[in-house]
Amino acid sequence: MRRKFVAGNWKMNGSLAALAELDAIGAAVTDTVDVAVAVPATLIYPASQRARFPIGAEDVHANDCGAHTGCVSADMIKEAGAAFSIVGHSERRQAQGETDADVKGKAEALRRAGLHAILCVGETLEQREAGEAEAVVTAQIRASLPEGAAGDWLSIAYEPIWAIGTGKVATVEDVEAMHAAIREALGENGETIRLLYGGSVTAENAAGLLHAANVDGALVGGASLTAAKFIPIIEAAR
Ligand code: PGA
Repeated sequence: MRRKFVAGNWKMNGSLAALAELDAIGAAVTDTVDVAVAVPATLIYPASQRARFPIGAEDVHANDCGAHTGCVSADMIKEAGAAFSIVGHSERRQAQGETDADVKGKAEALRRAGLHAILCVGETLEQREAGEAEAVVTAQIRASLPEGAAGDWLSIAYEPIWAIGTGKVATVEDVEAMHAAIREALGENGETIRLLYGGSVTAENAAGLLHAANVDGALVGGASLTAAKFIPIIEAAR
């Protein structure tokens, strides 16, 4: 039985003052849905001190230490209070040129540190229109799937790039078809791994998406920034 998992992704938003939102979110957390929020690196420590649920990072380096100016390791985010990190978000794949091999290395670094990974995959609009969405995403899965992939430390987020921050949400049918394809591509341990949908999830569309076949939760960007928008999504997962 895979428990529903609703994760927020603050991206490059938030501040010490904004951490007050975590108090209200925490008050809405029950033991029927797992809730977590990924915050910018500078907010991991204060957020984790304050929140009553897991706080995570939005990225991590694949190496444990060394000459990597500007980067942080899995042990560093762990010491700051992170319980997990997102890896392979499309904004990083596109703007920072992260490859599937990079993403795999980052996920494996999290496992070494005893942290959870949320590994993101997703196709562009051109790829979907060309009928290549499932091929692209399952190829990403095969190339970025870390060693020892299993649900106790890994979740996968399917985030069609054209649906992120655009207000365009994938249909329940498209999400179910893609999640079934991902589940198949995961192979042996696939049944234990939670598959989240991400891309313009809101209070209005959350219930339909969260209860679709093979959907175990959501990765929520814009609507995770305030408790007023995030709590109804958590409630929809129940
Ligand atoms: P969005 O972002 O909910 O604002 O579309 C989702 C994400 O990028 O994780």
